[in-house]
Amino acid sequence: MTQSTKNGRCEWCGVEYPISAGPGRPPRYCRRSHRQRAYEARRLAVERGIRPDEVLLARHTWEALRDALYRLEAASEDVAMDLMAGRPTKAEYVEALAHLTAAVRDLQEIAVEPIALSD
Ligand SMILES: [Zn+2]
Repeated sequence: MTQSTKNGRCEWCGVEYPISAGPGRPPRYCRRSHRQRAYEARRLAVERGIRPDEVLLARHTWEALRDALYRLEAASEDVAMDLMAGRPTKAEYVEALAHLTAAVRDLQEIAVEPIALSD
């Protein structure tokens, strides 16, 4: 017998993972350690009075996000200005795409894990 699978999305890290069809509730997390971290974040949210519309992040995480978003915005403006001026060549489009992709990659590489987060 073959088991059908579908994908779930981890409520902690956001990564997709396969879920085997079967009895019981499908897992909410991609791995046990993420279930544990989510539990700890919820517990800390209660302790610190974090509201459902708030998230507690480490300062270095928040600063890294803010800086990466700024670089992405600047890259987007650079690319728009470069491509709007004149008639860009294919090479200029490729260069612009590489510039934007690098800024997106910087953003993707930031590990965003909340310290406290309520359900
Ligand atoms: Zn996960």
